[in-house]
Amino acid sequence: MRILVVEDEIGLADAIGAILRKERYETDIANDGQSGLERALKNEYDCIILDIMLPKMNGLDVLSYLRVKEIETPVLLLTAKSEVDDKIKGLDCGADDYLTKPFVTGELLARIRAMTRRKGVTADINPKYGDIVLDLKKGELICGANSVVLGRKEFQMMEMLMSNGEQIITKEDFVSKIWGNTDDSEYNNVEVYISFLRKKLQLLRSKVQIKTRRSIGYCLDGGKK
Ligand code: CA
Repeated sequence: MRILVVEDEIGLADAIGAILRKERYETDIANDGQSGLERALKNEYDCIILDIMLPKMNGLDVLSYLRVKEIETPVLLLTAKSEVDDKIKGLDCGADDYLTKPFVTGELLARIRAMTRRKGVTADINPKYGDIVLDLKKGELICGANSVVLGRKEFQMMEMLMSNGEQIITKEDFVSKIWGNTDDSEYNNVEVYISFLRKKLQLLRSKVQIKTRRSIGYCLDGGKK
C-alpha cells in the first residue's frame, strides 16, 4: 500500500510518515498543495492524507482538481479547526473522511484501514464460486442462464459463504455478523436460511452445495471444475 501525505507542518508530516512506515505503508510526503497535487497526478496511491490549510494551493482545491481528473483515490482530510464548515466543504469536494488535529495514532490508522477497505467494496467485484455468481447490485444468485433473487438475510449469508469457500463458517459467525446478537432463537434462523439457500441452489441446478459440518457450521462444496 502506498500513501501520500500532504502536510506543511514539517514536524507533523514527518511524524505521520514515521507512523505509516512503521505499519509498512510505503509513504511519500509533500509539504505544499502544489507538489502534493503533482505527486497525486503522477503516481498511483491507495490513500491520500491531505491537510486543508496548505501553502501554494489549499487542500480543498487539490481535492477538487483530483476529482475533476477522475482520480478516485480515497482522501482523508486533516483539519486544524473543528469547524463544521470545513468538514462539509471537504465532503462536498469528494473527501472520504476527515480527522481533526490533534489526533492519536490509533485513530489515524483506523481511518486509513476503513477507507481502503471501503474502496475494495466499491470495486464491485461479484463473488464467484464454482458455477455460481452473486450479483451484488441486483441481489441475485446466478448459475448459467438461471437466476434467483435472494432475500436480504439469504444474500448476506451467501456472500459470507462464497467469500469463505470451503472454509467453515460457524453458526456463531453467522449470528454475530448478520443478526448482531446471540439470542438462542437466532441459531434456528441460521438453519432455516441455510435450507432456503439449498433450495435455491437446487432451483438453479448448480453443482455447488452447502455442506453441514456437524456441530461446527457450514461451508460450500462443489467449486472444483
Ligand atoms: Ca497546514
